[in-house]
Amino acid sequence: MKKRVIIWFRRDLRLADNPALHAAIDAGFDSIVPVFIHAPDELGDWAPGGAQRVWQHLSLAALDTDLQALGSRLVIRQGPTIAALDALIEESGACAVYWNRLYDPSTIARDKQVKRHLEEANIQAASFNAALLHEPWTVSTRQNTPYKVFTPFWKAIRDDPVRNPLPAPEALPAVWSRIGSEALSDLGLLPDIRWDTGIRQAWRPGENGAHARLETFVNDTLGGYGESRERPAQPGTSYLSPHLHFGEIAPRQIVHRLEEWLHDHGNESHRKHANIFLSEIGWREFAHHVLFHFPNTPDEPLDPRFKHFPWTHDDEALQAWQAGRTGVPMVDAGMRELWATGIMHNRLRMTVASFLTKNLRIGWQHGERWFWDTLVDADLANNTLGWQWAAGCGADAAPFFRIFNPARQGERFDADGAYVRRWVPELSGLPDKHIHRPWAAPQKVLDDAGVTLGQTYPNPIVDLKASRQAALDAFDRIKNT
Ligand code: FAD
Repeated sequence: MKKRVIIWFRRDLRLADNPALHAAIDAGFDSIVPVFIHAPDELGDWAPGGAQRVWQHLSLAALDTDLQALGSRLVIRQGPTIAALDALIEESGACAVYWNRLYDPSTIARDKQVKRHLEEANIQAASFNAALLHEPWTVSTRQNTPYKVFTPFWKAIRDDPVRNPLPAPEALPAVWSRIGSEALSDLGLLPDIRWDTGIRQAWRPGENGAHARLETFVNDTLGGYGESRERPAQPGTSYLSPHLHFGEIAPRQIVHRLEEWLHDHGNESHRKHANIFLSEIGWREFAHHVLFHFPNTPDEPLDPRFKHFPWTHDDEALQAWQAGRTGVPMVDAGMRELWATGIMHNRLRMTVASFLTKNLRIGWQHGERWFWDTLVDADLANNTLGWQWAAGCGADAAPFFRIFNPARQGERFDADGAYVRRWVPELSGLPDKHIHRPWAAPQKVLDDAGVTLGQTYPNPIVDLKASRQAALDAFDRIKNT
């Protein structure tokens, strides 16, 4: 009797180091049906945003191409998931469904239902860990509680051995021609008005793109990562976040590539930079740990005092922030980079988030939601942790009184103004000395640079000093509650 299995792809869009696929091959199934089921309604409020959908479309197309190169193909279906799986089981005669686990609350709830349903129907259901070095329930403090602080969390796991990545299959059985598939274009993942050109130009979604990116990073950047990661004008980080989010590459594969690199170039300095980079992968692990154990955090502050924080409601200011028209160059540059490319440097994410939540005192959930719609790497775990960190109300959060001064951030991390000049070209004629504080520049300097505040570039929508004090006063009102 032929044994057939369905591999349910979700955010594990790769063939190498794919534990579900590997287990199916190992178990000796004669037929493997790779499927992607489009069911955004099942993800509640956190279905993929606009930029993620563009990425998802391109990544699914890449996965199909890679599957075809091995003799298989990607079957695409529309949800509800259980109905789609039932139909595919019926058509293919599959006796098992394998998938890789995800950790967002709505996905966990849906997957539990799917598992129960399959088991009741006598279909084998098996799930695997593809996305993390350590699953959230395998790490706990001595008191057997989840970690809320990064350093002890990372210390507890950073030296654990990481198993070797699994190889990609060399060939796969063909999928019967009678098993139909929807066209990828029917999923409507691409926008009607094509605002996505910048994203397409900046990125190469898919497993091959992910590995090419890792190689570029390891060969050109990793050796100086500890410093270069603080310079938003340079390509000083890995840019792996969207590839990691969609599972086009696994953290395990990254760790192994780093070990290989250290083996070849392992001096003291290289080790230092590699460890800094690895601790960023550690932050990703931590974010998933926190989301798993505190599943309400995408909507609610981890620190309950912040439920009573006096946020302001100012749509005009929110829109100016979203559009990169606040009159504060570092903030505007970051927000415009985000809109154009679907990504924003970490230094800028911290800066614009601090500006929104502290200088404008607009609730962090508004920023979280805007990032969700515009980032190609929008990730419920990392985005939630990042926003709650910046607002001062999350796990291992920056203390509330640590309010970034965006002009000072520019002077430190974009000293020659290259980043601001790229994204806020109307200020490009200003000398380095004034580019981060045009409001303080002498009139003659502004005239020479062709800048008319209030006309060619906005006046700041908020006074940095006064708004900082107002935020501290607001915090005083809740800090002892
Ligand atoms: P690198 O510096 O090369 O880091 C390598 C990888 O480590 C990243 O790809 C990412 O997977 C992980 N990582 C790095 N920093 C963090 C961090 N602080 N928290 C969790 N993981 C991290 N990251 C996302 O992937 N998705 C998000 O939606 C997201 N939203 C954020 C929102 C705010 C307000 C802040 C402050 C940070 C957010 N981050 C988010 C974290 C971080 O900014 C990005 O992961 C990083 O900028 C991605 O660029 P990179 O891949 O070049 O990073």
